Amino acid sequence: MSDDARRLARATLPEGLRPETLAVRTALAPSQHGENSEALFLTTAYVQPDAETSARKFSASEDFTYSRTSNPTVRSLEARLAALEGTEAAIATSTGMSAILLLCLGLLKAGDHVVCSRSVFGSTINLFAKEFGKFGVETTFVSQTDVAEWRAAIRPTTKLFFAETPTNPLTDICDIRALADLAHDAGALLAVDNTYSTPALQRPAALGADIVMHSATKYMDGQGRVMAGALCGRAALIHDVFGPVLRTVGMTLSPFNAWVVLKGLETLSLRMKAQSEQALAVALWLQAQPEIDNVYYPGLASHPQHDLAMRQQSGQGGAVLSFDVKGNTPEEARAAAFHVIDSTRVISIATNLGDTKTIITHPATTSHGRLSEAQRQVAGIGQGLIRLAVGLEHVDDITDDLLRGLSTLTTR
Ligand SMILES: *Cc1c(COP(=O)(O)O)cnc(C)c1O
Repeated sequence: MSDDARRLARATLPEGLRPETLAVRTALAPSQHGENSEALFLTTAYVQPDAETSARKFSASEDFTYSRTSNPTVRSLEARLAALEGTEAAIATSTGMSAILLLCLGLLKAGDHVVCSRSVFGSTINLFAKEFGKFGVETTFVSQTDVAEWRAAIRPTTKLFFAETPTNPLTDICDIRALADLAHDAGALLAVDNTYSTPALQRPAALGADIVMHSATKYMDGQGRVMAGALCGRAALIHDVFGPVLRTVGMTLSPFNAWVVLKGLETLSLRMKAQSEQALAVALWLQAQPEIDNVYYPGLASHPQHDLAMRQQSGQGGAVLSFDVKGNTPEEARAAAFHVIDSTRVISIATNLGDTKTIITHPATTSHGRLSEAQRQVAGIGQGLIRLAVGLEHVDDITDDLLRGLSTLTTR
């Protein structure tokens, strides 16, 4: 490339750029048109100049041939994700769940064993216990916070540790460094679901995690528009282990969705910081409300793993918090929680997070509705529990909206 072309294309960035810059700038080089916003390549196939070139590209599976295998927009997203997580490479998938599916297909076979926190995302538990259980992969579910339980669960066949931190909805924190050391001593790999914190707050690879998994559906898109997922890690894992599986199995990310997430990443650090600050303000406000028993938020000094969370998450608590509305019986607590939820006029009643719009959820009857009451009690998901994924509305409008229900509860 000539100097002029390089200057036009900004094809190579200088070394040592900071994460905020990488989030805006990392991508494949622009086309000959010099577009400033990365192009959206909606194409399934790529025309080759001749049969010889086509044959070479197919055997190398490096260049663009067919979009199940690779697409320039998806490649740009993968480059940006890897830059943000500080890993050598990344591979994008159609959803967060399909990223975990790819992880399992790439690393596990019948007879292998997995150790997983019992507080991870519900579908993740089902994927390990039910779907991979069918194929002879056994999973032991252990405490989110007690490293001794992870150690006790290790078998000679243990290949993978899977953790998620903070957890949904109670925001329990696990010690990524401690789990990485334990996994490596056992000859296993550690995968961390970093959906909640995103690399703007937490970089699991820097703490020893081998694979960082994402539901980019959440904060990476950030505006609740598209589904996407990813695995980030060493090139040897991403290109040699997961790449071939994805090409065969086809949990490929749509270029349109990749483009939306690519644009979302440009504002990720601003949004995460602002939404974390808002969540802390809401958590402090909730703590002072008489109708509320407990507030679960890593940014509060009262959180059991507050110090670890602040170390691991760049001093931020993240955008998700939960709280228990008081009630003498589970029925009373549920009625009170429903009253608070139904009294909102601004906040969205939905079961999602990672949006600029604040979302309110009743976990016991939605995300955790398939559990038995006994399982919910073990998990600490009471009928009075409400989850709030704090967005970017004015913080006083969020607390006013919660006060509508809290101030009219019969317990007041
Ligand atoms: C949403 C979510 C997933 C699953 O992601 P999808 O994009 O919905 O498939 C996995 N882990 C966590 C922590 C999530 O919040």
